[in-house]
Amino acid sequence: MAHTPGTLYIVSAPSGAGKTSLVKALIEQVSDVRVSVSHTTRAMRPGEVDGVNYHFVERGEFERMIERAAFLEHAEVFGNLYGTSEEWVRDTLADGFDLILEIDWQGAQQIRRLIPEARSIFILPPSREALRHRLNNRGQDSEEVIEHRMTQAVEEMSHYGEYDYLIINDDFRLALEDFKAIFRNRHLTVAHQQLRHAHLLASLLS
Ligand code: GDP
Ligand code: ADP
Repeated sequence: MAHTPGTLYIVSAPSGAGKTSLVKALIEQVSDVRVSVSHTTRAMRPGEVDGVNYHFVERGEFERMIERAAFLEHAEVFGNLYGTSEEWVRDTLADGFDLILEIDWQGAQQIRRLIPEARSIFILPPSREALRHRLNNRGQDSEEVIEHRMTQAVEEMSHYGEYDYLIINDDFRLALEDFKAIFRNRHLTVAHQQLRHAHLLASLLS
């Protein structure tokens, strides 16, 4: 069946703003959306699964992947390397799926240059205190790592103006509604609706 190529969405946020929770909730409620599984050199957190949350690789392997141009973008965040596989992104979009990249602002800049039609979304916490509280509550990082992430948060947040959409994740339910609205909007464009409702349009106009 004919389909429009999927839309690429970039989602960025300071660590702990709720990016992963929002993306997880979105894909349970919106069809035809996939999430890219990045490669990373960071240590696995308790509960994380290799190949599901990330492809966890050694630094040497990651560097060899950079050399053979396997990444659409890559960046160093909190001292670890993170990257998005080029092949998987191209194939998924060509198959007509929307695709979400959960990446930092450096990766977002690289993707915008390569794929200008990508839409980008920035998620902010309702306050600094809430951000710290969520990082603590998540219970997956040491005090030292949390302090570092709080410092880095200001730098990450200073890039919000480079994005197309801004969501404040205060009440989770409302933030999720905002997030879903961005995807619905795209599906209502004439180009998408012509494909979805080809039979209706043909019968109305015959
Ligand atoms: P989180 O911030 O709690 O989600 O912790 P993570 O260790 O999972 O991610 C740390 C940072 O790396 C976040 O800012 C992510 O957006 C970013 N990140 C994850 N995957 C990629 C990637 O493939 N490319 C880039 N450029 N950044 C990534
Ligand atoms: P990120 O992926 O941006 O680092 P997470 O999705 O892991 O953030 O969220 C960090 C923590 O904050 C998690 O424990 C999550 O359950 C919690 N959280 C997310 N959104 C909200 C919200 N709107 N209100 C309260 N807690 C939230």
